[in-house]
Amino acid sequence: MRSPIYLDYAATTPVDPSVADLMSQYLTSQGIFGNPSSSTHRFGRLAAEAVAIARAHVAALIDADPGEIIWTSGATEANNLALRGISRTRQGRHFVTSKTEHKAVLDVCRRLGKEGWTGTYLDPQADGLIAPDQLAAALRPDTVLVSLMHVNNETGVVQDLAALGALTSARGVLLHVDAAQSAGKLPIDLKTLPIDLLSLSAHKLYGPKGIGALFIRHRPNRIQLEPLLYGGNQERGLRAGTLPVHQIVAMGEACRIAGTGLVDECARLQALRDRLWYGLSTLDGTVLNGHPTRHWPGILNVSFAGITAEALLAAVPDIAVSTGSACTSATAEASHVLRAMGCDAERARGAIRFSLGRFTTCEEIDYTIQVVIEAVNRLRDLSPLWHPARAYSSLIDWSAPV
Ligand SMILES: *Cc1c(COP(=O)(O)O)cnc(C)c1O
Repeated sequence: MRSPIYLDYAATTPVDPSVADLMSQYLTSQGIFGNPSSSTHRFGRLAAEAVAIARAHVAALIDADPGEIIWTSGATEANNLALRGISRTRQGRHFVTSKTEHKAVLDVCRRLGKEGWTGTYLDPQADGLIAPDQLAAALRPDTVLVSLMHVNNETGVVQDLAALGALTSARGVLLHVDAAQSAGKLPIDLKTLPIDLLSLSAHKLYGPKGIGALFIRHRPNRIQLEPLLYGGNQERGLRAGTLPVHQIVAMGEACRIAGTGLVDECARLQALRDRLWYGLSTLDGTVLNGHPTRHWPGILNVSFAGITAEALLAAVPDIAVSTGSACTSATAEASHVLRAMGCDAERARGAIRFSLGRFTTCEEIDYTIQVVIEAVNRLRDLSPLWHPARAYSSLIDWSAPV
């Protein structure tokens, strides 16, 4: 028996050991435990300094100014603060988003719909991309806000933010980007990208859970938002509550580490991802869900013809992967992302998301290929429905988007 292999980095990442070390220095009486708002004494001032350094690290990762970073409890809260915060400054207007967004955007948008806003939900192309033309056609004179993610959490598809942002900025429409899956993994340069609001999460980049940030552009003009929480003047009144210094310091350090290794790590993951894909695609009837080239290499989403994701997951208990729809668990509901991309229900229900990360090794990938191939063959042998000729013919249109 070997210990299970973790290939679910898109769900969460382990905290980097050096980040955990640093974090532990901000808790006890031997460490820096003060309240950063307590400016009257040294305990508070040391904590405030640590927060300022962390803010600078987060800002540097995305080429922003530290003053543009607001701490939140994660990307979910950052998305809420961005979308609801903007909506409360303007009454009943129009927004645009896509059907492949994370629930942490879609559920907020649904809420805006109940508050008098109208939304356009774009259908991506079969490869998961939103074409600039589609966005251009959806913008209306009363459009206030567009929310589109950078890297999709199920497929790894990378949207062309420069092209999409060029449209919104030309029309004076605000652009919010959920970058929970891309920050620290792909370069994000907010000095050149015309993005107004951007959400980050620490636990997707080897920091702790329960901390994230929202970038709010200040130049040329400071974007006005209504806070979600009241109760203190922290974060310029945009996010009340005592700052969780240990988590903030940890997020800052996680961002610093991610930024230094970003290019090399991306290349390393690309090689591992290609190895995994070539290995798995030696099986008949393996299809890639997503874009063949515009993808972040840490995520590989595949369906195996004739196999449901649940059956395969149960057959490989020592590989920790998820179904395409990590958030719809027991309902066996097909992924809303894959369905929006036009995958049929069978293919969507068969989707498995392998997500790789900093601690993934080549040996783990080789073992994964071996046990998945064995499991797929075993399940197909047992299945009265599996017939290579039949599955193969049904695959002709399956493979169309790829
Ligand atoms: C994980 C994730 C979120 C939620 O982030 P939390 O920090 O856990 O709230 C939002 N959007 C995307 C794309 C994610 O992957």
